[in-house]
Amino acid sequence: MKMHDSVLPGETLTILSSHGEFLARAAFNPNSRITARIWTWEQAEEVTPDFLYRILERAIKSRNHLFPALEQNSALRLVHGESDGLPGLIVDRYANVLVVQILAAGAEYWRETLLDHLVKLTGISQIYERSDVDVRRLEGLPEKVGIARGGELADHVLITENGLHFSVDIRAGHKTGFYLDQRINRRRVRDLSKGKDVLDCFCYTGGFSINASAGGARSVIAVDSSAEALSEAGVNLSLNQQSCTENIFWLEGDVFKVLRELRDRNASFDMIILDPPKFAPTASQVERAARGYKDINLLGFKLLRPGGLLVTFSCSGGVSEDLFQKIVAGAALDAGVQAQILERFSQSPDHPVALNFPEGAYLKGLVIRVS
Ligand code: SAH
Repeated sequence: MKMHDSVLPGETLTILSSHGEFLARAAFNPNSRITARIWTWEQAEEVTPDFLYRILERAIKSRNHLFPALEQNSALRLVHGESDGLPGLIVDRYANVLVVQILAAGAEYWRETLLDHLVKLTGISQIYERSDVDVRRLEGLPEKVGIARGGELADHVLITENGLHFSVDIRAGHKTGFYLDQRINRRRVRDLSKGKDVLDCFCYTGGFSINASAGGARSVIAVDSSAEALSEAGVNLSLNQQSCTENIFWLEGDVFKVLRELRDRNASFDMIILDPPKFAPTASQVERAARGYKDINLLGFKLLRPGGLLVTFSCSGGVSEDLFQKIVAGAALDAGVQAQILERFSQSPDHPVALNFPEGAYLKGLVIRVS
């Protein structure tokens, strides 16, 4: 690739092969290890406001079928970065507010254009920016948060997910406020919960716990180390009084310790959910991450009653599906249990994976039954 001194971070460059043939148009960033992020592989396409409008429109329209009824699901990811042909741009819709994350110099360069297009394409005038993610530093960009379009905004936005209600802290919540990628998996957990004693580890604001309770779980213990998240979870439970019973016990603690304490007390459960934070954000931390996954999964297996279900996730990009399965298999072996995979989970379909960007497949989950 030939670079020109006068090209600014985020500007578009044409990438040629060593024979001088056209390869792609890309956003250039000399400050990042990823020097170029592809906008288009088509020579006929120039990267212009019109081009960006078309790509954004395509991304948003491709979600139309996922909003079967807005009253049932009012929060979805509308733009999933590279996988939607928009490298470095995340757009989540929470009812009548959009939350954007701009994670790369190219998207930053086109910021105003993209924001204007989003208002036009969605009819939503409120946009909040949550570009407070570590990866911006790797791109040489400062953190940026605040109202990007529209007037003053309440701290929390009320959303509905599969008919249940959640209050989302778009300013201070994790990611853009809610783990939208688990939407269909939470629905599935609801279906599996009837009559079960459930342990929800790393519960955040209660997504899985509230689904389990709504699905008829006999009891739910929900553990997280964040007092703020648990207080939000309590609010979320109160928003769902019609669907849930008051049978969730919120426990503030370190899951690694709580699982050991439960084991020492001979506690047991019919279903255990393990949805930890990213143990391996990059490939270099895989070994440490593998130990973490092995530890919690081993303890999880030990706490399950015969016939019980382990619903176990990894959202680490550095841990492949194959490796994750091997780690969990090792945990079952060490725990001395026979186990079978019943179902495989991945990120919800509003977080698609472009076939030419397999790195986009980060969330994997297994539903495992012990005998
Ligand atoms: N299952 C949740 C998302 C989990 S995100 C949902 O569906 O919404 C991971 C959560 O793990 C965060 O809430 C974080 O506070 C919590 N966490 C991180 N390390 C932890 C630890 N060692 N013990 C308990 N909770 C932890």
